[in-house]
Formats: sequence, structure tokens, C-alpha cells
Amino acid sequence: MASFTLHGIPVSRGIAIGRAHMLTPAALEVEHYLVEPEEVEAEVQRLQDAIVTVHRELQSIWKHLPQDAPAELGAFLDVHGLILSDPMISEVPLSIIRNRHYNAEWALVTQIDELSAQFDEIEDEYLRGRKQDIQQVGERVLKVLTGTATHLPRLTEADETGAHLIVVAHDISPADMLQFRDRAFSGFVTDLGGQNSHTAIVSRSLDIPAVVGVQNASMLIKQDDWVIVDGDAGVVIVDPPAIILERYRERQAVLLRERKKLSKLKKTPAVTRDGTSISLLANIELPDDCPVALESGAMGVGLFRTEFLFMGRGGHESRLPSEDEQFESYRKTVVAMKGRPVTIRTLDIGADKQLDDAREISLNPALGLRAIRYCLAEPQLFLTQLRAILRASAYGPIKLLIPMLAHAFEIDQTLALINQAKEQLRAENIKFDPDIAVGAMIEVPAAALALQMFVKRLDFLSIGTNDLIQYTLAIDRVDHEVAHLYNPLHPAVLYLLGHSISTAAKAGVPVSVCGEMAGDIRFTRLLLGMGLREFSMHPAQLLSVKQEILGSDLGKILPHTKKILRAVEPAIITEAVEQLRIL
Ligand code: PEP
Ligand code: MG
Repeated sequence: MASFTLHGIPVSRGIAIGRAHMLTPAALEVEHYLVEPEEVEAEVQRLQDAIVTVHRELQSIWKHLPQDAPAELGAFLDVHGLILSDPMISEVPLSIIRNRHYNAEWALVTQIDELSAQFDEIEDEYLRGRKQDIQQVGERVLKVLTGTATHLPRLTEADETGAHLIVVAHDISPADMLQFRDRAFSGFVTDLGGQNSHTAIVSRSLDIPAVVGVQNASMLIKQDDWVIVDGDAGVVIVDPPAIILERYRERQAVLLRERKKLSKLKKTPAVTRDGTSISLLANIELPDDCPVALESGAMGVGLFRTEFLFMGRGGHESRLPSEDEQFESYRKTVVAMKGRPVTIRTLDIGADKQLDDAREISLNPALGLRAIRYCLAEPQLFLTQLRAILRASAYGPIKLLIPMLAHAFEIDQTLALINQAKEQLRAENIKFDPDIAVGAMIEVPAAALALQMFVKRLDFLSIGTNDLIQYTLAIDRVDHEVAHLYNPLHPAVLYLLGHSISTAAKAGVPVSVCGEMAGDIRFTRLLLGMGLREFSMHPAQLLSVKQEILGSDLGKILPHTKKILRAVEPAIITEAVEQLRIL
């Protein structure tokens, strides 16, 4: 097959080379992991047992069919029985487990998808319609499998042939990304998505090269095609010629060497050349991210996006994490960070991060009932989280961060609910930190412009540049069609950033940036020049930002930044920001 190249939006840096693994929406709903070689036969057995169970289920339905049941129902059950016995279902998925080491659910869905695609090509309409039967049989087996799922160890990296797997999908939701945390995959390519969608953010936090917004990728790339994902340039090369492959392997090796060099900076304090200390913190999504955060030399957690504890849990209210379950996660995090501060952000649900049982999704979710708006509309859910966070604050230094505040009354209501949670805990004799600091995310332009309203009421601020840019420039951060308009260097964005940092500093209120700009070395010196002293980012970005700080001289950066903040011409601003890096 001829090689071809696709272009998209680079969202997570690095190079990945491997075989394409196509993910359909159905496939996204099951767990994906590679089983250890010694567990393969047990996994095969698990699938065989599930198939036997479904055979029994079908027989039992047959037996209990009411006398007056329509004849087609019996015929329909027969067809399902035949499909289940066909080697295409009863044997091929077993070989997939044996050859590729996929877990049973993944192997089954892979085969069902393959069969469905073959059926789509059939001309005869009746036969084409049988695809549904195959899918229904597959779902029956999946139900049995997931009901009896045993938790096998998760392997990572390559399949049994040593080839890495690259996920190719139309779209992947942030909740779907959660299942890829074990790194069974080494690259991501999606048709949809924008620079700062949460899907992109999660791929960056996993440190896995990703290109999104590659329109038609999922149509043009085929299962098992060789693919290079260039997460720096936003390029996807399919079936590359040997010479290109070789060149990319060399680049991979160079990146690896650079990474090794950076790792020497782990213990070096982040101090500018003229002696100003900068605090570098980690953004995390789950308590399990703490070891990586510590490993990167982070001085604490600057943003714990707690909504990931609430997502991907199935469709029932009861599946929301209970107070105790949340408390355990927060306690585990603060204990794992060994005395370093942990900033826990309350639930930021809505927009591109929906709960499984989300009410009807608003027409314009980014402007809808999101984050603190959702929590104030669901005070019981909010109180449960506040109580859990407060309880964990007895085990280490915790700060409370509230997302998407815009109105004074929202701050006041939030503070009242925090007090209510404290009162309840006091009455129950449960320990917590009574002086826990409460801060606001500055991510709505109104909040940045009316910062006085915030500094008067709160202990600290954290600027969420991802949303601040989205709302300032009126572009949906998830929509690839407007991704080219997402510009952190727009003069309006720079004005809001500079204004927020200096107003907070004048008021003596600590301020950090925890949006993606904080982890992007193109902007490190610009932010330093604006007066920022606290940056929070994915652990994978921390050492390169530190390297940039170590080479910075505030004496030189400050006057240059002042000029940038006065400029209004985009070309001049871009050029001047690039100049900052070679000062
Ligand atoms: C932000 O908006 O910059 C931010 C850090 O929050 P999130 O990306 O989770 O919306
Ligand atoms: Mg945000």
C-alpha cells in the first residue's frame, strides 16, 4: 500500500511508531489491556466460559418462551445460537487473545467490529441486516464477561510481535482516555478534537504523543497499518517508506537522550539566574499520578482535577463516588505527596467532561451548567465533596480551589457551603484543617476583569488559561474547526493575564497559572516577566520548564515583557515572545 500523510493538531509532543489499532464507539466501552503471557490461557478460558454461559441463557429463553410467542422469536434465538457457535465468534477471538494478548472483552469487540465491517460490504440487504444479530450476540457475551471481570495485571507497551499500538478513533472522550492510563498504547490519532480539549490534556498528562483534528483519519487508516505519529509537527504518516521510518527512529533516539539529560535536573531548585525562586507544581487527574509528580521534582500539586474520579463509572447515580471513597482518594493523594501542598479543585463537570448520567446536555455546554454552577445547583453533591476534602485536610496540607467562578454571590454561596460542611464535621467530632485556604480559578474574563471582587474574598488564585482563552476569544476549545483561532498570544489574553497577575501581587494574594500555558516552554519567560512565580503543569513538562527558568534573567526579561504587553500587533507580539527565549 502506498504511503500517505495526514495533518492535524499536535497536542502531545514526541514521536510514536507502531501499528494502528482502530477504536469504534463500541470498542471504546470495554476495557483495554494486554494480559501477561502466563495469564493468556486463563483469559481464553474466561471468554470460553462466557460463551458457554450465553449458550445456556439462550436455551433457557427458548424453554421459557410463552406458547403464544411469535414464531420469529424462536427463529431469532436459533440464529443467535448459530452465530455463537460459528468459529468466527467462538474461535477467532480466542486466537486474538493468544496472538495479541488482548483481554477477552477487547478481543471480542475487535472481532465483532471486523465482522461488522465485512457485513457492511455485502450487497444483499437481508444479509447486511444480520450485522445487528452479530452485534447483539457480542453484547450478550460482553455482558457476561464484564459481570464476571477479574482484574488481571495490566501490561503495557507492545503487543507480542513487539509492535507498539497507536489508537486511531473518530473521537475519544476524556472519560474514555482514563482507560488508557496504563499505557497499553503509545500514540493517539483522532478525527476530532482541539488543542486544549480535555482529551488532549489527558494525552499530555500521560505523556503519549497525540495528533487530533486529523479529519478522516479513522476512515483512511486501516487496522494494523504502520503509523508514525509526530506529536511535535501534528503529522501522521501511514505506511511510511523505510527511509522515513529510519529518520523517525533516529529522532526518537535523540528525544530519549534529551529526556535523560533533563532528568539530571530533578533535584535542582528552580531559580532564575538572578536568584528568584520559582515554584513548580504538578497537575494530576488521579491519586495514582502522585509518584510521577514526585519523580518529576514537583513541589506539590497545583491542580487536582477531581472530576476524573466521577467519570466513566457507568450510568447510575449510586455510581458517583461516596464521601468515604472520595475522602480515601484525597487522603491517599495528600499522604503520597509527603507534606507537600495539594490543591484540590472541586468538581468541574460539564462542557467536554460529562457525568455518565448527565441530565440533558445543554445546547452550548461550555456556557452552561458547568463547574461551580453545577455544584451550586446540586448542593448535596457539592457538600459531599467538600466534607471529603475537609476530612482529608487532617492528613496533610490541602487547599481548596473552586472552578469557573464569575459572580460575587457564587463566591459567597460557596464559602457558606464550605462553612456548613465545617459545622457538620465539628458537630460529628471529625477532624479537619479549620484554616484551609480557599482559592478561585480565574478562567472567565469577567473574573479577570473584576479581580478585586476575588482578592477581597479569597486566599489565593489560579489562572486557568485554557478556559480563559476559550471564553475570551469565544472559541470552543474542543472544536477543531476553530482550533486555528486559539491563540494564547492574542493581545486581549495577554492583557487579562498581565492584569490578573499584577493585581493579585499588589493585593498580596498568591497567584499561579495551572492552564496549559504554564507547561509550554514558549511562554515560560513571558509569564515570568508578567510577575508569575508559581506554575502548575503536567509532570512530563516540568523539567523542560525548569531548564528554561534556570537560563532566565529577570533583569533582562522584565523590560522586554513590558513592551510586549503594550503591543497590539500579533506579528510583533509573536516575534517579541520568540526573542524572549534567546535573551
Ligand atoms: C484551565 O481552564 O486552564 C484549567 C486548568 O482547567 P481545565 O483545563 O480543567 O478546564
Ligand atoms: Mg478550566
